[in-house]
Amino acid sequence: MHIMETIKLHHLHPFLLSNEAEVIHIDQIRGLVLDQSVAYAESGGQLGDQGKISFKNGNTNKELPFHDTQKGEGRLLLLKDFPAIPVQTPTYHQLSPEHLSKFYVGQKVKVQVDFQRRLLLTISHSGIHLVLMGLEAKYPGLYSAIRGCSIKPEGARLDFSTDQKFTDEDVCFVQDFVQNQILLNKQMFVYQHAAEPEAWFWQMDDYIIPCGGCHLTETGYIGTVSVKKKSLGRSMQRISFTFKDYQIPEFYEI
Ligand SMILES: [Zn+2]
Repeated sequence: MHIMETIKLHHLHPFLLSNEAEVIHIDQIRGLVLDQSVAYAESGGQLGDQGKISFKNGNTNKELPFHDTQKGEGRLLLLKDFPAIPVQTPTYHQLSPEHLSKFYVGQKVKVQVDFQRRLLLTISHSGIHLVLMGLEAKYPGLYSAIRGCSIKPEGARLDFSTDQKFTDEDVCFVQDFVQNQILLNKQMFVYQHAAEPEAWFWQMDDYIIPCGGCHLTETGYIGTVSVKKKSLGRSMQRISFTFKDYQIPEFYEI
């Protein structure tokens, strides 16, 4: 079976914000597929990147915006110790129909992600890991009750299938836990599964979970967090957080 695949540079180069690429496919609905891209395609609740794609047009450089990044179909990963995620997928960069018509297969382009949006998504994503760690410190095993995850530039949330409503004390506990981890400027690591290069784990201290999203290297960048709870009914509970006073890491390659 032929697999149309985009090499996802954000895994091995998480702070690289642009790359040279070649157009390998154009879908009028789904968008532009490149042979490799730094852009993060929406998955695991984290929104897809936005940015711009540029190319030479005669003697001038033309730059066109893409407003979303989505994954296409690939091979379903079947490992005993990892969630069944699609791998070797194409990455679709979504442009307006008018802009999409400016591209052709084989064209050399440069893709660049919107730095501010990627930074906020990365902070938001890293922070929700700490929120989950805090919750699991109080309710071990809660990870398996996750039914929804949404990671946006302004903050993130997790929905749990549980009959137990979170209390004000839970919220205070989690907020103090997260703020303390930030104060300690803890290191956060990612590493690949031994059997699959696209399967990644996230680790802080001895807490490890499967995750291939965008992460900071240290907690100190996150700043000040505000944790909230919301009951979505008798058996669905939500925890969300927002952040402010974050610091911009110096290691991004613009
Ligand atoms: Zn993650």
